[in-house]
Parts: sequence; C-alpha cells; structure tokens
Amino acid sequence: MAALRTMEYHPPTNDRSDDLLEGIGESLKLFGGSTELLQKVLDNIQQAVFWKDRHLNYLGCNQQFAQRAGKSNPSEVIGMTDFDMPWDHDEAKFYRECDSRVMESGVAEIGIIESQVNADGELTWLQTNKVPLHDDYGKVIGILGTFHDITRLKQAEESLQRSNEELELRVEERTRELRFVAHHDGLTGLSNRIHFVQQLNFVLESADPEKIALMFIDVDNFKLYNDSDGHEAGDQLLTQVSAILQSVLGPRDMAGRFGGDEFLLLMRDLQDQEQPAEVCKELQRRFASEIKICDKIKPVTTSIGIVFCDIGDYQNSDDLLNDADLAMYHAKNCGKNNHCFLADQQRQSKDFQVNIQKDVLAGIDDRQFVLHYQPIIDLENQKLAGFEALVRWQHPQRGLVNPDRFIPIAERASVIVQLGRQVVEMVCQQLVCWKREFGALSSDLKIHVNLSPRELLEPNFVKSILETTQSFEVTPSSLCLEITESLLLEDSAKAIGLLRELRSLGFEIYLDDFGAGYSSLNYLDELPVDGLKIDRSFVDRLGTDNHNNAVVRMILALAKTLGVNVIAEGIETEFHIATLMEMECSRVQGYLFARPLRSEQAAEFLLEHCAADSIQISPTSRLSHFTTAASH
Ligand code: C2E
Ligand code: CA
Ligand code: CA
Repeated sequence: MAALRTMEYHPPTNDRSDDLLEGIGESLKLFGGSTELLQKVLDNIQQAVFWKDRHLNYLGCNQQFAQRAGKSNPSEVIGMTDFDMPWDHDEAKFYRECDSRVMESGVAEIGIIESQVNADGELTWLQTNKVPLHDDYGKVIGILGTFHDITRLKQAEESLQRSNEELELRVEERTRELRFVAHHDGLTGLSNRIHFVQQLNFVLESADPEKIALMFIDVDNFKLYNDSDGHEAGDQLLTQVSAILQSVLGPRDMAGRFGGDEFLLLMRDLQDQEQPAEVCKELQRRFASEIKICDKIKPVTTSIGIVFCDIGDYQNSDDLLNDADLAMYHAKNCGKNNHCFLADQQRQSKDFQVNIQKDVLAGIDDRQFVLHYQPIIDLENQKLAGFEALVRWQHPQRGLVNPDRFIPIAERASVIVQLGRQVVEMVCQQLVCWKREFGALSSDLKIHVNLSPRELLEPNFVKSILETTQSFEVTPSSLCLEITESLLLEDSAKAIGLLRELRSLGFEIYLDDFGAGYSSLNYLDELPVDGLKIDRSFVDRLGTDNHNNAVVRMILALAKTLGVNVIAEGIETEFHIATLMEMECSRVQGYLFARPLRSEQAAEFLLEHCAADSIQISPTSRLSHFTTAASH
C-alpha cells in the first residue's frame, strides 16, 4: 500500500534496547501487511482520516470520515472526488485548492480551520491537517488528510468572545458612568468644579474672537436654610437653583457647581454687557419667586459677580474665576441680593485683591478670627479623641463669617499664610490653656488643624510651625494637620517630602475630604499619612445606594490594611452612626454629637466627656445640647 508509506515504521535512533526494538519490529512485520488491521486502527482513532491519489480522487478513509460523508462503508468513497461528496460546491472547491497546493509544493498544511455542512445539514467546524504522501523516489503521489470536529470548541470560543464583547461594552458603559460621576455634581447633575474649569480652559484657548460673560453666583445666607430647615431643605434649594440656571442656558452656554452654594454660569456669543445683566435679573427674579422648600415658596436671594470680556483677555481660567469671585465678593459687600460687574478687570482686580488682603490682614491684627472646635469621637474606646479647629471671621460689618466664604479668597490673595499661622498659634494657646485647666484630662487630646496647600508649600513652613509649637511648649504630636488631595496634585514629590518631614517631627497628618475629588486609593500606600477623613458626602449617602456603602467599606478595609486611622465626617443621624459602627469605623465627627463649639463650650464638652471617661453613643441624651448650642 504505497499511498500509506508515511505510516511505515522507522526505527527510532534513541537509546532503547536493541532487544525491545527487535521485538517491535517483529510485531510490525507480523501486522504490517494487514490492511484489515490498519483499517481497524484507523476506525478507532478520534479523528477522521482519508487519503487521495494525485488526481485528488479518494482512495480510502476511516469509518469516521465515511460517516461524515454520509456513507455506511469506507470503501464507498473510493474513486470519488470532493465534488461527489455531500458538502457544497464552495467547500469542495476550497478542499480542491488546498489539496492542489499541498501536491504542488510538497509541503504539509497543518491546522487549517474550516467550516463544513455535515451530512445532517449542520454547520460544523473542522481542524484539518493535510500532508503529502511520497513514493519511494520522493515524488508526491497523493495526500493524507486528518481532521477532527472542533465545533464545540469553536462554539465555546464564540460564546467566550461574545461574553468578552458584552463585558467590554459594560466596562465602557461603566467608564462612561464613572466619567460622568467624576465630572458632575452628584446632587444637581451640573458640571463640578474640575469639569467646569476644564471646559472653561477649552473655551479660553479657542482662537475665535467672541465676547463671553462668567457669572459667579452665591446663594445669600445659605447656611441659614441649611441649619434652620435641615440638610434636605438645603439640598432642595440647591437643586432648584441649578434647574433654574440650566433653563436659561443658550446652546453654547454652560453652568456648573463650584462647590457648596456657589454656582458658575458661562455665557457665550454675546454682543454687549446688557445680555448678562438681563439674565442676572431674570435669574434673581426667578430665584425669589419659584423656589419651594417643603412646598412653601422661599424667596431666595443671590449675589452675583460678573466678568464680561473678550476671549483673549484671560490666559487661564484661574484669573477669570478669581475676578468673577472678587466681583461676587463685592456684590456681597454691597448688601447682597444684587449683581456686580467687574468693570475694568485689570485695575479693579488688583484693587479688590489689595482690599481683601488688607481686610484679612486687618482682621488678623484685630484678632477678628476665632476658632470653633468640633469634637471628634473615638467610638472604639467611647471617648473624646480630640477636636477639629475651624476658623470663623468675626467681621465688624458682616458678622460671623464662615470659612468657606473667605478661605478661598484668602488662599488666592495669599494672606492664607498669615491667617494659617495665626490659627496654629491660637490652637497652641488653646492646648496650653486646657492643659493648665484640666491637666491630665487633656493630655492625649489632639487638635486637628486645616492647612491649605498654599500654606504648606510656603518656604519655611515646617520651620515656622515647629517654632510656634516650641514657643508654646506644645508637643507636635498634639497637632493633626489636615491636608487635602489637591496639595498632592500641585507638586506631589515636594508635598510628600514635606509631609514626611512633618511626621518625623511628630505632627500627625490626615488626608481631609477623602474620596471627594480625585481617586487617591491607588497611591494611598505611598502617602505619609496617619489617617483619612471620609468625606461628608459619603456619610450623607449611607444606606441610599449600595455602591456608596461598598466604597466606604473599601476605604475602611484599605485603611485597616495600611494601618491608618479613619474619621468619618458629617455624622448627622443615628442611622449614620449605626451603619458606621457596623462597618467598624472607629472615629466620627458630626452635628449628631456636636457642632463646632466656641472655646468655652468645647471646654465644657471636654470636661464632661473626659471626666466621665466615656461617651454614650446614643447621643440624644447627653450630647444633645452641644448639637444645638453650636456655632453657625
Ligand atoms: P472641612 O475641613 O471639611 O471641615 C468640616 C466642615 O464640615 C466644617 O464646616 C464643619 O462645620 C462641617 N460639618 C461638621 N459636621 C457636620 C455635619 O454633621 N453636617 C454638616 N452638614 N456639616 C458638618 P466649616 O467650619 O464651615 O468649614 C468649612 C471648610 O473651611 C473646612 O472644611 C475647611 O476646609 C475650611 N477651613 C476651616 N477652618 C480652616 C482653617 O483654619 N484653615 C484652613 N486652611 N481651612 C479651614
Ligand atoms: Ca478638615
Ligand atoms: Ca473635611
């Protein structure tokens, strides 16, 4: 059987014993000529086998192949071509082409993947090998083919591919969602600060001449709504303000929430200053007449600062925002509930800056800044862990001003450095005073101090804070410095270096508003921090969506792994506390326990809760008067 020469026995040249080889040779000789046996062997292997002559006529096949070809006996294929087989014409043509290639080149084709409609009419997939058969002189005289059915494998592959595609689609969708969440404010759906600034920069970079107006809108007395009617009322107000803002937008305009009760509106394609002025009036009219809180109309007023300018007047969004903020500050100072244009940007901007700088500096000199202290509760040991110092401005004309009204301006006007220094001094003074009054009671008390990136990056900051603590004989470990992630965005290598230095001196470092802006989870293990403060927004959403709870759990687990402390901020309800306790969060801070307290109230709190050496976690009984007697 010349056509099967490829199956002839070639003794291996390895080190098997001669006796054994001789034995196998004998056996093969014995069975070698038996076509019957060969056919049996072929019929019992898992592959379909066939062979063809040089004219590509079938000369034989095994049972498996015969079955595929719809024959009951292998001998029935002899003399047939692929065109006589049940496969369709195109398939037969494909086999013929492939066979011809092998015949002509004398090179085997291995692992050909092909489809075939079988005798039952089903589409199947085959993996085929075709090798040339040679005669004794090396001439190609036919083809030996083998194949096996890989339909199930192929189906599995396809289903895997489908799942992969589905997964990719879902990942894409999720990424889109995450991008949306990262760019938009969760409450109002408006662009958040980061996204708005990004878009504003795109606009400023555009080369087309155009007049634009940027409005900085601040809700007057927002704190009052929030504090007197509750958080939900505040949320309702902000959502409605944002809806009204959105309803006045032109096709290329955009609105954003800058933070808290501050909004931004960018108007484009303007002709003159009258247009933004009209929009302001319209907005203020609607804010005053349309906003409902708990079904009652609340006449909300706003102070709006406007910069009307040509694209090209500003190189970057920082300066433009700064000027709009300054104009708004001016509108506030002129009695609120109005709008104010920055008429001559350059000159006015400088004047305003200088004014505010002077204002804050005068405030520092006159000791107009005061600290309020909000207790931080250690749930694990049921005791007072410390206080966060929160600055307020006792302004001679404007009354008690909250930090979010002046800190951002002080930061931009760089007087934050002087203000920060005074805050640290006041904190040290307070620690000394409590130590004198309460002795050991206050000994392991920590005071948290907020630091702006600008302060920390100020040359000599480390030296200066150390000198301050030394001059008051306060140990650095009594101070926990709260920084935000924005610090790390500016010059992370420098910032990390400074944090390391501060820690080595004994100061503790906490990452404030954790999770709110950027995702620092991935570099958390590289940061020299002692703790995190979970942003209030996460606490606020506890129990409202599973994803939020999962994130909080993840932050807690991660912190545990890294050995850093966690303080959850903004605890307002019994539910918050119960959930956080269940999640094993060890420290909390929030209105439920106490609002930021004036120094004397904080002393009272300290005395009461340190003396008792424990805090009742259900706060309704003992802590309640601190939650109402607090500062606003
Ligand atoms: P922060 O560091 O996130 O401070 C926590 C803020 O959340 C405080 O607002 C506090 O009164 C408020 N808060 C605490 N518990 C609750 C609660 O249960 N519910 C609600 N709704 N709010 C709660 P505050 O005092 O207006 O401070 C605002 C921000 O001003 C601070 O945010 C901090 O970033 C900044 N700040 C305050 N004092 C200083 C300071 O001395 N230096 C610097 N650089 N920034 C300061
Ligand atoms: Ca803080
Ligand atoms: Ca915070």
